[in-house]
Amino acid sequence: KTSSFDAIIIGAGAAGMFCAALAGQRGRRILLVDHSPEPGRKILISGGGRCNFTNIGATASNFLSANPHFAKSALSRFTPADFIALVDRHGIAWHEKTLGQLFCDGSSKQIVAMLLDECAAGKVETAFGQAATVEHRNGSFQVSLGKDVTQAPALVLASGGLSIPKLGATSFAYDVARSFGLKIVEPRPALVPLTLSGEEALFKTLSGVSAEVVARAGNGSFREAALFTHRGLSGPAILQVSSYWRHGDPVTIDFLPDLRPGWLRQAKRDDPRITLRRLLGRTLPDRLAETLSDQLGIGLELGNIPDRALDAAEHRLAEWQFAPNGSEGFAKAEVTIGGISTAELSSQTMESKRVPGLLAIGEAVDVTGWLGGYNFQWAWASAHAAAQSL
Ligand code: FAD
Repeated sequence: KTSSFDAIIIGAGAAGMFCAALAGQRGRRILLVDHSPEPGRKILISGGGRCNFTNIGATASNFLSANPHFAKSALSRFTPADFIALVDRHGIAWHEKTLGQLFCDGSSKQIVAMLLDECAAGKVETAFGQAATVEHRNGSFQVSLGKDVTQAPALVLASGGLSIPKLGATSFAYDVARSFGLKIVEPRPALVPLTLSGEEALFKTLSGVSAEVVARAGNGSFREAALFTHRGLSGPAILQVSSYWRHGDPVTIDFLPDLRPGWLRQAKRDDPRITLRRLLGRTLPDRLAETLSDQLGIGLELGNIPDRALDAAEHRLAEWQFAPNGSEGFAKAEVTIGGISTAELSSQTMESKRVPGLLAIGEAVDVTGWLGGYNFQWAWASAHAAAQSL
């Protein structure tokens, strides 16, 4: 049996569902396909079950891409305020948690239900729980779903990146894009914990300890909490810098970002009998204070330590270098950095420049947001841009 649509969208995640709904509501006949029987699985577990659905401060500067300008057009045409208006229309209560991050008061299920309602309003047809294969014939995309063949002049790749295969992530979008000759920026795990080995494995004994730090890697610098784990480093600050980190790079941590240079000499003058461990314990968790002062080899009271040694210790505490030996990989990565090259796509329509009718949106594209609702905002905005052009 063959049926025809104006567009077939592969992937019923954040981007695919939203694109289907908007295009359907514009009168387009849309088929939304997912190999998983349940749409929006990542939305359901996102934000600890409350879905951090946008960030009120989202601009292109919160995204990584080989072309940092690419996301500007879509982000400016569908803003966080636009998505908030939609959430409000559906009566979903929300709150700002921190740093502009908006979460549902209730549950992520509300966001999935909202998207499915919007799809229904657009008379979107769905085919969930079936694997799809794609062929391109005479300018038409043919998508086989079991025995059924569907066709459309437009195909939207919305099947996401490689993060969390257990939740149904596959390389489908990349494979189809490659089969059409589109370039892929090497996909890597991002927003992911980093692992430590060797001497630094000592820090694993701090598993569960966290502190607010400034973490840096590559061009990324974030002031948020870092968490020591039994495998290495995690917490928001580390997840953020993991997107900027490459194998062999150090991750630098300022454990005391609020202290001014010279604070350690000053502390010695104020109280020569205090130990470094006790002093650090005023700002940092006790076990971390102990490990850092042990590592620095400063056990005596500060009055017995030469100023030069204190300066060196102060410098190390502000620029503590970790040398991660890897990350916890796609199994634990919240997103995939890289993907379908933005050089292949129109930033206005998300359509391939080489293959008319082929579009890509969401995480499948080489646009990756920081932690904090930015990745969903890209999913909504890129879906909106594509839907306007279908
Ligand atoms: P996805 O939502 O991943 O959807 C892709 C869809 O394609 C899936 O339904 C999948 O089943 C389907 N698919 C895959 N392969 C195939 C195939 N071969 N055939 C058919 N269908 C296929 N971002 C935020 O902004 N805020 C958060 O709070 C947040 N929390 C997160 C928590 C976790 C644990 C994770 C893993 C991610 C989180 N993210 C968050 C990131 C965010 O979920 C993604 O960036 C976003 O879902 C990407 O949307 P997408 O539609 O492009 O892809």
